[in-house]
Amino acid sequence: MKKLPSEVMNQPEFAAIGESTLQSLLNDTFASSKKVVIVDEHTHDFCLEYLLTSVTGLEEAEVVLLPAGEENKVLEVCFQVWEALSEYQIGRNDLIINLGGGVVTDMGGFIASVFKRGVHFINIPTSLLAMVDASIGGKTGIDLGPFKNQLGTFSWPVHTIIDTSFLYTLPQTELINGAAEMLKHALVADEKMWMHFEEMSELSVETLSPLIEKSVGIKSSIVNRDPLEKGDRKLLNFGHTVGHAIEGYFLQMGQPVRHGFAVAMGCIAESYISNKELGLTLSELKKVTQLMNRFFPLDTLLDFDKEQVVYLMKNDKKNAENKIHCTLLSKIGQGSVNHPIEETRIVESIDFLVREVKL
Ligand code: NAD
Repeated sequence: MKKLPSEVMNQPEFAAIGESTLQSLLNDTFASSKKVVIVDEHTHDFCLEYLLTSVTGLEEAEVVLLPAGEENKVLEVCFQVWEALSEYQIGRNDLIINLGGGVVTDMGGFIASVFKRGVHFINIPTSLLAMVDASIGGKTGIDLGPFKNQLGTFSWPVHTIIDTSFLYTLPQTELINGAAEMLKHALVADEKMWMHFEEMSELSVETLSPLIEKSVGIKSSIVNRDPLEKGDRKLLNFGHTVGHAIEGYFLQMGQPVRHGFAVAMGCIAESYISNKELGLTLSELKKVTQLMNRFFPLDTLLDFDKEQVVYLMKNDKKNAENKIHCTLLSKIGQGSVNHPIEETRIVESIDFLVREVKL
């Protein structure tokens, strides 16, 4: 097998599938390899045909169909796929293509990374969240009981191709869900991008598509600086300390909420803390609060128990020395990591959040 072209490693490519590097990878590097395409029920129906008719070389590919949804990002499903891969006699020089949202890219990447100590895989993200976040940065994984992403590896795909035309079949809720991470990228790294969002009348494929490449660029550059999350990668945790706790609360109550909506809540609370601790101005705090309220149905997420949410935050795996650590903003477009925060401040931030979202 030919050596993989290093210039395409880890650098997502923006292109229509038919015009992307995929064709040359199939013709050349993986010409004699067996191929497997992993899809879920929805990407099977909405995305697979487009992939198969855009390139040649996948006619003989095996298609592995996963049940859709986070509840299926579990070991039991991986077992079934590993058994199928054994049956197809997939070896290390063969190729797995993950065609789907973050569940497929996370689980497909995990499946590939441990099967025979690592089979090559390509990510073709089809949801906005997978394009701007899940398929970038080398984290693969599955859930263990109630704990998200407890089993996983750092493993990089051979290549990632972002074809935004997949977004046209994505449900609107999923589009908004992915947009939360784009807003977070703007808040921690790019004030101009934030200003673009302020000018947007609505979140749609048309308004968001021009900002996807910028968003991917922000995540890629942060991850390339700190692939194993020792420092700068924590910038990406902005909005996630409070956000994860709110998401976890609703999950425990058996009423799961979209991750992006919880992150939007977290961005408001953590902007409040940034105002108190790091000099984010009141007018910037107001801007964050207004925009998150405008784009996300946050009032549907207010019915939580504050003490429980704080309790969950205190037990977050990202804490150190018994303190809740937050990524904060010194200004819009500039994040700063590793700020230990007193519990009273956290409680204040949640009171602020509840007040502002109710308005
Ligand atoms: P998802 O994969 O469940 O996709 C959301 C829904 O959209 C699913 O029903 C899916 O079938 C459907 N879908 C996807 N593409 C479609 C298309 N083009 N047309 C129609 N329907 C389509 O969820 P997600 O929001 O994409 O990703 C969430 C997952 O990503 C979580 O498991 C999360 O832990 C993970 N994640 C991982 C990282 C990472 O760094 N690895 C980062 C962020 C999130």
